Amino acid sequence: MLADYAVQVEDSRGRRFPETPHPYRNPFQRDRDRVIHARAFRRLEDKTQVFTRRYSDHFRNRLTHTIEVAQITRTVAGALGLNVDLAEALALVHDLGHPPFGHAGEKALDTLMRARGLFFDHNLHALRIVEDFEQRYAAFRGLNLTFEVREGIIKHSRDYDAAKHPELAEYVLDQRPPLEAQLIDLTDEIGYNTADLDDGLEAHLLTLEQIRAGVPVFEHFFREVEQTYPGAPDKLKFNETLKAVFDHLTGDLITNTRERLQQSGIETLADVRAHKDRMAAFNPEVEAQRQQIKDFLYENLYYSVSLAGEKDDAERIVTELFAFWMQNPSALPHNYQEKAGQESLPRVVCDYIAGMTDHFIIEQYEKLFS
Ligand code: MG
Repeated sequence: MLADYAVQVEDSRGRRFPETPHPYRNPFQRDRDRVIHARAFRRLEDKTQVFTRRYSDHFRNRLTHTIEVAQITRTVAGALGLNVDLAEALALVHDLGHPPFGHAGEKALDTLMRARGLFFDHNLHALRIVEDFEQRYAAFRGLNLTFEVREGIIKHSRDYDAAKHPELAEYVLDQRPPLEAQLIDLTDEIGYNTADLDDGLEAHLLTLEQIRAGVPVFEHFFREVEQTYPGAPDKLKFNETLKAVFDHLTGDLITNTRERLQQSGIETLADVRAHKDRMAAFNPEVEAQRQQIKDFLYENLYYSVSLAGEKDDAERIVTELFAFWMQNPSALPHNYQEKAGQESLPRVVCDYIAGMTDHFIIEQYEKLFS
């Protein structure tokens, strides 16, 4: 039984191209499966989350990060009585539009596009992937996903100005997205904030002492763990603490969202959509703790000297390849040359680069520039 404020699959606004119902999977389950079977989904395996493979094979990449976000999302959506199938599909698709080389690659692409009066946005790119680039069906381009999944791709992490994005008018930009979509931004945060502490420690770019001193919520749970397991090795105390932090954030997201829904008198999906605020949220105290973890990671990990070299390489590779294909469009693969007839060349070059894995873009760079 779903809550009244959940998305009911029977009420879906459907697909662009009507399809025969499946005998034993509902439309959101089919969408989840279409995402899993997409080429762009498999490429997430070789896209940097924070660390490149140079550090270790144990670290998260975008694919394992995505699976972790899906796990957290299923838990939270289930506990809130939301549509778990829809929420899971949205979690699995949430990073599909990310270019190679993590945040550095995204920033480089956006800078190059802005210099030409355009921009790069990973949510909009993910929509292009599922609407157009994936080619699996004879009857249509793209994955023909339901409205609710496409809407969630666009609206899960931010609001788009309807005046600036007339092409997104069908996604009712003046309304909040359903809770299943609102959750994703926060389960994504829980996933990477805890995972990056873990990988950062493993990479020896962070120390336990540094994390204890810099992340108050971590220190709080570490003290509890020390009392329970005084003789345990530090690494296991760390794991126990991180697990407690993870649980604390996830539990708060569930209880606080539930309270906010009650306090706001929200009963139906229409109420969720019409409310001026997003309802999925941590309580203010936990929100401050989340922000402290994030600030700590920015200061000590994402912008650390140790990762600066890789980021510079990423920026250089993206920038030089972009310039190369802008000057030599005939060197683009045939299908992208065809696209250049319908879209501006910078957009086509940007699409080509954004789809690449870390491995493939490095291979292109070495082929063309060495
Ligand atoms: Mg993510």
